[in-house]
Amino acid sequence: MGRIISIANQKGGVGKTTTSINLSACLAELGKKVLVIDLDPQGNTTSGFGIDKEEIENTVYELMLGECSIRESMTKVENIEHLSLIPSNVNLAGAEIELLGINEKEYILKNAVDYIRDDYDFIIIDCPPSLNMLTVNAMTTADSILVPIQCEYYALEGISQLIHTIDLVQERLNSNLRIDGVVFTMYDARTNLSSDVVDTVKENLNATVYQTIIPRNVRLAEAPSHGLPINLYDSKSSGAESYRNLAKEIIERKDV
Ligand code: ADP
Ligand code: MG
Repeated sequence: MGRIISIANQKGGVGKTTTSINLSACLAELGKKVLVIDLDPQGNTTSGFGIDKEEIENTVYELMLGECSIRESMTKVENIEHLSLIPSNVNLAGAEIELLGINEKEYILKNAVDYIRDDYDFIIIDCPPSLNMLTVNAMTTADSILVPIQCEYYALEGISQLIHTIDLVQERLNSNLRIDGVVFTMYDARTNLSSDVVDTVKENLNATVYQTIIPRNVRLAEAPSHGLPINLYDSKSSGAESYRNLAKEIIERKDV
């Protein structure tokens, strides 16, 4: 049965989308069957895989509104074997309102994913930068949450709120949910700040911290404009190396 990991942190710009794209691509490179679900109306994961957000017929929005099946909502990603994507675009921004009053709206995504989870080794969900109904759907669907934390001064801001939300979902909607772990992103070895942030988070957060730390690497920032994950854009870059290592670490961890 596939492991379902939601990548969440309601802070924007911490590396959720970069991690979703590149972790998924590296898992696929290692031979795993991967489904990526873009649950952010910004659709950056979708365009990061080279898919034109405006041209697609079915997205996660049509899926959640019951206008297509989960298989109909999937798109193959060119040049990447073993990887499928459920894309997203700005239409998803209206979903929260449209789902008002719908029964069990916290379980819409889960009920759809249940049909296909056996077909995949990993299902990776990229969350929007908020703790809204879409994020709750991602948490209800997931086995675990991976939290990217950017190595910057306000790194811990909002983390207690995120953990509170995860606890509530676990209590009321998904008793299996775990915090998978924390991944540090945009680490800059030249500054003391980055290593201070890593130390502070380790001291204050009772969660597993992945050994792999994602460095700040300009190739990671460039890759989406070419519609490619980092392992295809610049296979030897430090960004590619680090996301490969993260993928291996996640495969080896069987306890989550
Ligand atoms: P989020 O999805 O949490 O909003 P993104 O993954 O979109 O965050 O990252 C925010 C910005 O930082 C993007 O422009 C992205 O290209 C850049 N970025 C993310 N991770 C790195 C990194 N390790 N090195 C350099 N740039 C990065
Ligand atoms: Mg994002």
